[in-house]
Amino acid sequence: MSNPVSSDRRRFLSRVALGVAALPLLRMAPAQAADLPHLSPDDPTAKALGYTNDASKIDAKKETAFKAGSQCSKCALFQPATASGDWAGCGAFPGKAVNKNGWCRAFAAKA
Ligand code: SF4
Repeated sequence: MSNPVSSDRRRFLSRVALGVAALPLLRMAPAQAADLPHLSPDDPTAKALGYTNDASKIDAKKETAFKAGSQCSKCALFQPATASGDWAGCGAFPGKAVNKNGWCRAFAAKA
């Protein structure tokens, strides 16, 4: 029998670990998104984090980490200074550009 509190704790701790791991990446000089390949949802890391290019298509019943209204453009890891059109760099996916309407489980609301 699974323990829902333990599962929530594991999910929280994995997000904290990912966020901490991504912090040094935020200090790197960002490449312009025009120079970066677009992140594919089929990329293994993207799959592991449930990345999608369009958060409006997420089924919140299946993706329980998703909160309505969250998307890359509202995430602290999104790098709007690198934006080219709808795409910009992201601290969680170095070397790739994510869609401003996208989302993944590393989403961190801006303060
Ligand atoms: S939700 Fe945040 S961490 Fe995830 S892909 Fe979008 S900008 Fe990057």
